[in-house]
Amino acid sequence: MVLSKPAFEQGPIRPPNEATSLLLRLTRNCPWNRCLFCPVYKTKKFSRRSVEEVKQDIHAIAADKDKLLEISKQEGHGGDINRAVVARVHHAYPELLPVAFWQYHGGETVFLQDGDSLQLPHGQVSEILSLLKEKFPEIKRITTYARSRTILRRSVEELTELREAGLDRVHIGMESGSDAVLDYMKKGVTGTQHIEAGLRVKEAGLSLSEYVLLGLGGQDLWQEHALETAKVLNAIDPHFIRFRTLAIHSNTPLAEEVEKGKFKPLHDDAIIREEKLLIENLSAITSYLYSDHILNLLEEISGKFPGEKQRIEKTLEKYLEFPEQKREMFRLGRRSGYFRTLDDMDNPSLKEAVEDIYQQVKNSGYSVDEYITRLLRRFI
Ligand code: SF4
Repeated sequence: MVLSKPAFEQGPIRPPNEATSLLLRLTRNCPWNRCLFCPVYKTKKFSRRSVEEVKQDIHAIAADKDKLLEISKQEGHGGDINRAVVARVHHAYPELLPVAFWQYHGGETVFLQDGDSLQLPHGQVSEILSLLKEKFPEIKRITTYARSRTILRRSVEELTELREAGLDRVHIGMESGSDAVLDYMKKGVTGTQHIEAGLRVKEAGLSLSEYVLLGLGGQDLWQEHALETAKVLNAIDPHFIRFRTLAIHSNTPLAEEVEKGKFKPLHDDAIIREEKLLIENLSAITSYLYSDHILNLLEEISGKFPGEKQRIEKTLEKYLEFPEQKREMFRLGRRSGYFRTLDDMDNPSLKEAVEDIYQQVKNSGYSVDEYITRLLRRFI
């Protein structure tokens, strides 16, 4: 297969739940780029793309879609972008793959890249959204990342105009509600600013998704991180809360802090205690909570508040009440891809597979923690 690039530009990241969305790049990299834990754009400078460039991309995507329909018809699939068409494209027209994959998954959702798309002047974002909706009237959801500080530079009226032009949801990397944690991590925002920005997004009628980074308080600030984050989330009551777990990448300033002994990371079990404290203190929300990130130990910590809060708390308690060896087994099974939920430990074939690995680890001279650290490098 000859590798060729798509006829439009795409950036490196998107939220986990936008895996099947079209990625449309409005800006490059992150205008802040200082968070101690963030490896994404470290050596790359932020820039805004011109409206003309983005519009050309939208036209290129529309042209790719036309080509796909043609290929589908030629191959006898009547214009349907099905599995067989995607497989054909994969081998013969790899430059069409992003649009083929998007169309295969319905072609109804779009994510605007990169880390802070609303950095583009207000009218320009609306212009881009309008063309996107005009070219693809079947689109049902358009979302973007935005920093709280950037949202605060927009009035409710401006955000409302963006919603009217087609924007549906804003994903905000809150990370923590604690000023001490935010300040140490150089996030460039306070808990109060997160609250103001979140409420403004909601007032404009946009859907709001807040990302929380479990483990970000480390051993010194874990309680403060949990309690203050719960306080900020209670004040905002976002539509969605999404948990991710801190991974310390080697090329970040946070890795240097760990090296110097200034930041002491939490063990998996301590992160679950932190998560439990946070959830216990979520007392005023009606949000959906998701743990849809591969690094989260307990993916099943998901559900709608307040109705499912008790079930979620019970799952966390269940894990923490396991004897140490059973917790190790679960962690090993989860990190090796065998277990997704605690109940998977009752599945005899999965249990047997993980017991085999457990024995191999014990015989290898590594501790389970060392082995898991090596496994996790695959995802970092
Ligand atoms: S604002 Fe987001 S993308 Fe930018 S440095 Fe911080 S975490 Fe990374």
